[in-house]
Amino acid sequence: MPHLIEAGIPPAPDIDSVARRYRDFEQALDAGTPSAWLPTFREWDALRRELDTWSSLTYLRFTQDTRDERARRALDHRDEVEPTLIGLDIALKRRFVTSGERRQLEQPLGEHVFRLWEADLATFDPAVESDLIVESKLAAEYTQLLAGIAVEFRGETLNLPALGRFASDPDRSVRHAAATARWNALGERAADLDRIFDQLVHVRDGIARKLGFSTFTELGYARMRRVDYDRAMVERYRDMVAAEVVPLAQAIADRAARRHGIGHLALWDEQLLAAAPAPRPLGDARWIMDRTIESFADLDPRLGEFARLMDRNELTDLVARAGKAGGGYCTKLITYGMPFVFTNFNGTKGDITVLMHELGHAFQGYSSRDKPVIDYLSATLESAEVHSMSLEYLSWPFMERFFGDGAQTYREGHLAEAMLFLPYGVAVDHFQHLIYERPNATPAERHVMWQAMERRYLPWRNYGDLERPSQGAFWQSQLHIYRVPFYYIDYTLALCCALQMWAASYEDPAGTMARYVALCARGGEAAFRDLVGSAGLTSPFEAGALSRVVARARDVLGL
Ligand code: ZN
Repeated sequence: MPHLIEAGIPPAPDIDSVARRYRDFEQALDAGTPSAWLPTFREWDALRRELDTWSSLTYLRFTQDTRDERARRALDHRDEVEPTLIGLDIALKRRFVTSGERRQLEQPLGEHVFRLWEADLATFDPAVESDLIVESKLAAEYTQLLAGIAVEFRGETLNLPALGRFASDPDRSVRHAAATARWNALGERAADLDRIFDQLVHVRDGIARKLGFSTFTELGYARMRRVDYDRAMVERYRDMVAAEVVPLAQAIADRAARRHGIGHLALWDEQLLAAAPAPRPLGDARWIMDRTIESFADLDPRLGEFARLMDRNELTDLVARAGKAGGGYCTKLITYGMPFVFTNFNGTKGDITVLMHELGHAFQGYSSRDKPVIDYLSATLESAEVHSMSLEYLSWPFMERFFGDGAQTYREGHLAEAMLFLPYGVAVDHFQHLIYERPNATPAERHVMWQAMERRYLPWRNYGDLERPSQGAFWQSQLHIYRVPFYYIDYTLALCCALQMWAASYEDPAGTMARYVALCARGGEAAFRDLVGSAGLTSPFEAGALSRVVARARDVLGL
């Protein structure tokens, strides 16, 4: 049977003819006839779908074989033309947003897309173009600095992700040595890490002011396309995490310390929170995919059919191999109407978590593939992670199929890690608000700000003899802070919603599953609060969003 997706590197579009198409669209709108707007929109939307598919496939092919020179050149070319394509889109978005036909167009297209485009327009002006280039070069410098770190460890030369394997080693002295190696390497680059971030803060503050914002924070929210919540609401959510989740996280850390026979849990113990060592999946990738198809079919027939479709069409690349890029992600190949899941199975429990997660994204992409606007095919990020994280938890009843006797340990570790993650995620967010409030703070003052966040949200945190994090520098290994400011809270907002799904599934498994399937089918047609409300979830900005979750977690963890 032929593959659904064509093999090889997709041919790049000719940018001159793409630009001509955009000029044609503008001319059609210039003609001034009201009837021209909708057909022009549809042609533009179709072109955006083709370009998006080319972009996704180019990225996919490169990550499947980073040693392929042609794939690397294709990706470089994509990155070079991207600003041009964004500029062309911005111009048309402006035409549509400011058009007298907007109210008419909101009938078939919905209001939401216009609000998304308004946010996009607020983030860009030709006056900041050169600053944006500086910003992206600094972000790339950070990535290169981290990627270039090679650590000698136990007779091997390892990069930081490879060293990360030892963070869950059963031998405590190995974990400690790995953490020491990591933070020594980062400590040697302290001056650069401070300088790059200082420059990023200043260039971002400057961009925000040129665009008419009083601080970068508002611009950061607009870049994340947040159209239905603001910083005051996020602040209330952080307070709720501090009040309700931090005490449970502390209890989890204390119990883990007792189990390890130590006084205080150290940073290098934080991945071993369960009663027993982490279980491993009982079979290889083929076996895991077969168990997944069975489990999904038992959860919901639509989900089972979807997993079979992904498998039959070879829309996954699951196992780690030389030359393949690290990490896991799901990409949408829009014109094919199908997603693709990329992971790096290495025989650990994480293989199952990441597969459930990425298939959650994939199921959403597949379920909402017929939405009339490309912007609705994916939701904004805090909503998108609800689809993926929910499936991690909704698949819990089937973990015996993957781990046998180890299933209970898997569930305990998964839940305990989530409870420690929520406070960490809001700490990262709160920290960034402080940073952009005082752009002229010194690097040393920023480290003091982070330490205040640790006292508030991570009271169990213990760096032992690790010098650099003890001085307030832990945040420098969180790439989002450098690369995508204000993104991080999205994971915790989504997790709050996913855990509500999980808590509800104890009382009404079938009803919860139906709400999950319906939520995925909505894709990104609405903003976050609308989407979670329609799924019967309490918005994280409302009191009580975490109460049932924390109560259920205490019950399941026996704390
Ligand atoms: Zn995700």
